[in-house]
Amino acid sequence: MSKHLLLDLSFDICEKLFAKLKLKNFIVKQVFHWIYQKNIYDFNKMTNISLNNQKIIKQNFAIILAKIIDINIDKKHKTFKFLVQFHDKNSIEMVVMKFGYGWTICLSSQVGCSMQCKFCASGMKIKKRDLTPGEFVMQYLLAKKYIFDQFHERITNIVIMGIGEPFDNFTNLVEALKIITNPYGMAIGPNHITVSTCGICPKILQLAKLMPKINLAVSLHAPNDAIRKQLMPINNAYNLNLLLRTCKKYCHLTKKRITFEYILLENINDHKTDAIELIKKLKGINCYVNLIPYNEINECKFARSKKINIFFNTLKQNKILVKIRQERGGTINAACGQLRIKYEDDRK
Ligand code: SF4
Repeated sequence: MSKHLLLDLSFDICEKLFAKLKLKNFIVKQVFHWIYQKNIYDFNKMTNISLNNQKIIKQNFAIILAKIIDINIDKKHKTFKFLVQFHDKNSIEMVVMKFGYGWTICLSSQVGCSMQCKFCASGMKIKKRDLTPGEFVMQYLLAKKYIFDQFHERITNIVIMGIGEPFDNFTNLVEALKIITNPYGMAIGPNHITVSTCGICPKILQLAKLMPKINLAVSLHAPNDAIRKQLMPINNAYNLNLLLRTCKKYCHLTKKRITFEYILLENINDHKTDAIELIKKLKGINCYVNLIPYNEINECKFARSKKINIFFNTLKQNKILVKIRQERGGTINAACGQLRIKYEDDRK
């Protein structure tokens, strides 16, 4: 009989499986505490569990670990970019950053990405596979240990904005979020978690219904279909009007503000007329716009906009809540996917 992979299991599923094995309910809590609070993955070291129960757990469950194989550090901005390798040698990136309010980790959701956004290094690599719930969770556990060992501090916020489209891996995403938010798991409040999507409309509403307290960020990057289509093939499936209508519904269902991400690309989407069109499109949506200065990368033809301030001021003067994203990790291949591409190129 194959073993259950423990890191893939939510607390509720684990309770059911333990009950079938006649293991008492409190033992699930003990196992979760060892794994998620103490970073102990060896059942033999879970010393408050009897030897007999340890044996039953070992016979039925396994934990597959991952490892950090490269780290790039931007000391000035306290930003760490990790390359994480899974058991099948596939690798993804995660980034950990220190902000005024604490540490935030940016998790990947897939190995590669099928969405093919034209400005993105991750989109250069076709998706190889989805991450399992345990692989979402493993990223956090590795980073948590690293940051605790270095700084004696905790990571308190999670954004799922790394390699991959989280909603293209929806079932595993939801299972991972259950573990992340469970009080016996990683115990991170849903308000401290943001999931980002390129705009898969049905999943936006599904998440709103399943987990209404999780924050949502939507990659907009254009004020109309003509520009968005050039940048994001997903716009052919879900156009801008449909996306914005869905976002309105999301705000209504969750009573939350939505974040729109907008990467400013020179002479593509950064004209004052684009800002004015965007303002009109966002009317009536409880939102906040995050303007992102573009990190130029060899693999893409786009250039960083020089009109960020004009764009910002136009939005602000028209009462749109707007911010320019703080730049971090410019020296460490900060665009998602770049470190993995570099690693894979180096191996060729
Ligand atoms: S921006 Fe996100 S959704 Fe688009 S290709 Fe990159 S990783 Fe995928």
